[in-house]
Amino acid sequence: MTSGADRDDDRPRRIPVGFDAHNHQRCVETGLVAAEAHCAAQGLRFTPVRRAALEVLLGEHRAMGAYELLDRLHEAGFGSQPPVAYRALDFLVANGFVHKIERLNAFIACAHPGATHSPAFLICRLCDSVAEAQSSLARGSLGEAAQSTGFRIERTVVEALGVCPACAEKPVESTPA
Ligand SMILES: [Zn+2]
Ligand SMILES: [Zn+2]
Ligand SMILES: [Zn+2]
Repeated sequence: MTSGADRDDDRPRRIPVGFDAHNHQRCVETGLVAAEAHCAAQGLRFTPVRRAALEVLLGEHRAMGAYELLDRLHEAGFGSQPPVAYRALDFLVANGFVHKIERLNAFIACAHPGATHSPAFLICRLCDSVAEAQSSLARGSLGEAAQSTGFRIERTVVEALGVCPACAEKPVESTPA
């Protein structure tokens, strides 16, 4: 039995941000502005180190480990003690500006800042680039399963592993025998 429903294109096509050509300068600015506005509205302190951490993460559409972030913060003139990076990351994750990629034990700036959403991540296993998509799929099948058992989902982690378009186009180098 094949499902023909998959072919129906009545839903808007969601292109994952990150594997797509786009105005990256604008995407960094948008992320910072959204975080600033959120902090102002919620009375949160968007300190220089929090801002710098978010700017570093927004600058790349790939996950970054806490220590790499710490190095970048240090280069930018902030302290070099791990708590500096961890405290900034805690704040950014708690407020939805940054997501943790459990599989990579790394962090990525949210591609839909300000929106309440269940992120799904497409992780390239060759170059570690990560794109964020909306996990309507998980909401569908997982949501149904949860509903039928009376389980209340608070958080889902959707991390798909594969090969990104850029890596898929690269010619495969044969390893010397
Ligand atoms: Zn971008
Ligand atoms: Zn997000
Ligand atoms: Zn790749």
